[in-house]
Amino acid sequence: MKQIFSLFVIACLSLTITAQNPTTTTKDIADVIKKHGLENSQVMDIASYITDVLGQRLTGSTGLKNANDWAKNKLTDMGMKNSHLQQWNSFGRGWDMTHFEMHAETPTYWPIIAYPKAWSSSSKGSGEVIYLNATTIEELNKYKGKLSGKFVMIEGIREVNEAFEPTAKRHDTESLLNLANATQPVPRERRRFGGNSTAAELRAATWKLLEDEKPLAVLDRSRKGDLGTVFVSGARTAEGSARDNGKYVVPQITMAIEHYNRIFRMLEKGIPVKLSVDSQSKYTNPDGNENNVIAEIPGTDLKDEVVMFGAHYDSWHAGTGATDNGSGSAVMMEVARILIETIKETGIKPRRTLRIALWSGEEQGLHGSRNYVAQTFANTGESSRSITSLKPAQKKISGYFNMDNGTGKLRGVYLQGNQAVSPIFREWLKPFHDMGASTLSLSNTGGTDHLAFDAAGIPGFQFIQEPISYSTKTHHSNMDNFDHLIADDLKQAATIIAYFVWQTSQRDEKLPRKETNLKYN
Ligand SMILES: [Zn+2]
Repeated sequence: MKQIFSLFVIACLSLTITAQNPTTTTKDIADVIKKHGLENSQVMDIASYITDVLGQRLTGSTGLKNANDWAKNKLTDMGMKNSHLQQWNSFGRGWDMTHFEMHAETPTYWPIIAYPKAWSSSSKGSGEVIYLNATTIEELNKYKGKLSGKFVMIEGIREVNEAFEPTAKRHDTESLLNLANATQPVPRERRRFGGNSTAAELRAATWKLLEDEKPLAVLDRSRKGDLGTVFVSGARTAEGSARDNGKYVVPQITMAIEHYNRIFRMLEKGIPVKLSVDSQSKYTNPDGNENNVIAEIPGTDLKDEVVMFGAHYDSWHAGTGATDNGSGSAVMMEVARILIETIKETGIKPRRTLRIALWSGEEQGLHGSRNYVAQTFANTGESSRSITSLKPAQKKISGYFNMDNGTGKLRGVYLQGNQAVSPIFREWLKPFHDMGASTLSLSNTGGTDHLAFDAAGIPGFQFIQEPISYSTKTHHSNMDNFDHLIADDLKQAATIIAYFVWQTSQRDEKLPRKETNLKYN
């Protein structure tokens, strides 16, 4: 008994000594972070809650609102400070899908795999399918008065090829070498969409006609996907945005390719096909105000400087946004947890303030992060994209780390053309070489929220991830669900990002910045 007691005292003493030991080395910190990230991980529990329980998180929907409240409270429970929803505006109205059922009535009954596009109006009824096949305005005019009460197909057949190659992939030596050998990216002109004016005119006239005729639904099949995987995003309008208050949006439905093609082939044979739909939804949130979730671990001697890490939390609506981007969101929340546990265990406090952000509005154009940057770091013109000058806080942020490329583990970092961070990140990746992360690529990667920071001259990074089935199966599809998350990959990602955030916080200088050609610098 006595012996047990003295062992207990020794154990307590040694705990106290560790807790106050300011000389914990870099290696020790990496080990502590690895322990919490790999052995005590909660990333899959967080991911399951986000996807299975909270479900789809379309920006403006009740789903995202609930998910925001949950994350805000969860971060507080983890021990983060100042957890709050930070509002931004001008997103437009939201949309809640409340019921959907579709089937074929003739020539034979079958249930159809399909999803309404977000912001589609409700629709209920049955009617024949018609293929709108117009290559000129004259041809289009022939459909006037013929579309009301019908289902209108607007695309031809898409051939389906069997997948003899695996749809999930990991990087190999060659693909990593290509990334490592990438040269300094050259700034690109912003792409302009629209193509030639005749095609654009025809497109506008087609959607104008559809809005006038109000068919039961416009049917399409996504560019890719088969075997029940359907890629679904937002509805379109002839003018303006489907998110504009009061705007009529033609019901638009994306069908599984096999069902779309089957109907199309029957129409080609002159066999009438009759479908039935009951698609119910409602517009929400007319004030157009949305929120990012923000929380902090306060810093110490450099507490007025920040290190940010984040991911977009919003999703499309047909799946549960597991790989896009429940994975990134769960990883970043797990990063916060790992850091809090590491601080508790070592007694070492972060020097800079560590701030997590879960963004909204990413899928419709990085709105959440761009608005946050405009609120915090930069002054903008009318749009949050047009930066006119910088705020003093822009000098007080060291860097931003983002994750938004699915479930794959990290193989390295895209430097986003920032040559000067290369030796720093190379050093920081060393403890993770045996976990597959060692590649630095000068190249840019786009399409997600680090760009909002990069645009304001702030070092913003996205990691090189294993592709897995992101582009082939899950990204924006109905099959973007928890089952396609890989636990070991997400644990690895959270561990490495936690270490990067920590190191960014503790170094004497802020991360070096790119020389930018921004007008306001
Ligand atoms: Zn995404």
